[in-house]
Amino acid sequence: MTTATIERIETSLVDLPTIRPHKLSVATMHGQTLVLVKVFCSDGVIGIGEGTTIGGMAYGPESPESMKLAIDAYLGPAAIGKDATRVQELMAHIGKLVKVNHFSKSALETALLDAHGKRLGVPVTELLGGRRRDRLPVAWTLASGDTSKDIAEAEKMLELRRHKVFKLKIGAKELKTDIRHVAEIKRAIGDRGAVRVDVNMAWSETQASWAIPALADAGCELVEQPVASAGALARLRRSSPVALMADEILQGPESAFEIARNEGADVFAIKIEQSGGLFAAQRVASIADAAGIELYGGTMLEGAVSTIASAHLFASFANLPWGTELFGPLLITEEILTTPLDYSDFQLTVPTGPGLGIELDEAKIRRFTRDGLMNVVE
Ligand SMILES: [Mg+2]
Repeated sequence: MTTATIERIETSLVDLPTIRPHKLSVATMHGQTLVLVKVFCSDGVIGIGEGTTIGGMAYGPESPESMKLAIDAYLGPAAIGKDATRVQELMAHIGKLVKVNHFSKSALETALLDAHGKRLGVPVTELLGGRRRDRLPVAWTLASGDTSKDIAEAEKMLELRRHKVFKLKIGAKELKTDIRHVAEIKRAIGDRGAVRVDVNMAWSETQASWAIPALADAGCELVEQPVASAGALARLRRSSPVALMADEILQGPESAFEIARNEGADVFAIKIEQSGGLFAAQRVASIADAAGIELYGGTMLEGAVSTIASAHLFASFANLPWGTELFGPLLITEEILTTPLDYSDFQLTVPTGPGLGIELDEAKIRRFTRDGLMNVVE
């Protein structure tokens, strides 16, 4: 094994506009901020990682600004001078020094894995056990907040053969209004596509127990995180006519084990950032597999870097019956890669080059970097 140490870590905030406002029960997004992390190693290899959130701090405890600060002040200094070829060992070391901060850890771990893959000349999937598929089905989220606009958007996606699974963001409006919205969209799409909903924890248990059967009647096939409480989700699951998916309550392997032990979900939304990195997300997926819980590849509306890191992991899963929602780069107006990702025939192609297998368009990144500032830890 070659030796290489970590010499320098650069972080920056890149503010990118989105193609339309993205309305969730917790926030309306008008843009997405990527925390870009670059790890420079003594053998000349450079790895790239990315952190994102959904709606600043509306979704979780980390923000782009706090991730950057955590990496600049804590994770970065803990990594400088360490062996870059021992990613799991280094992340375990950092885990002892820094509690939680899952998103920041995922961004740094992604950069380390990208670097190590490039060093060994293999795609990141190979560092995670090996590839089982080259393309991943990708759902699209309809979240304009307007039923007819959403229907027009779904029609466009079907025509382009880009997406045929649609996730609707609901929970901010009256229950009956939301259910009518779902029913109208499903009626318009018919058998050409599938409809699922994400409530982002907005409902109480009683609201959910009334709404879930109504959503099933409307043709909805999956309900994501209808309530905030793991206990309530487990109770709802016992009588739910459709699959219930855990998302926000999945905060890494320990929470995954608790939910599995309580038979608390039919499906897990696996997210690398929420889990605390690719290896932690892999452990979440293993717990699900062992418990008979089905897998779905989730997103934090990530840009191309973290989307492709997720894709490398999801490509290694034994079972992925619910596909993925790795559409984040398509929500952003700007192409930040020198070679755009291949979204076609309802799927995303997992790159085959070393590391993540992608290259940043540095001029484009510089144009959108906040205050033109890049922090350096060395
Ligand atoms: Mg969700």
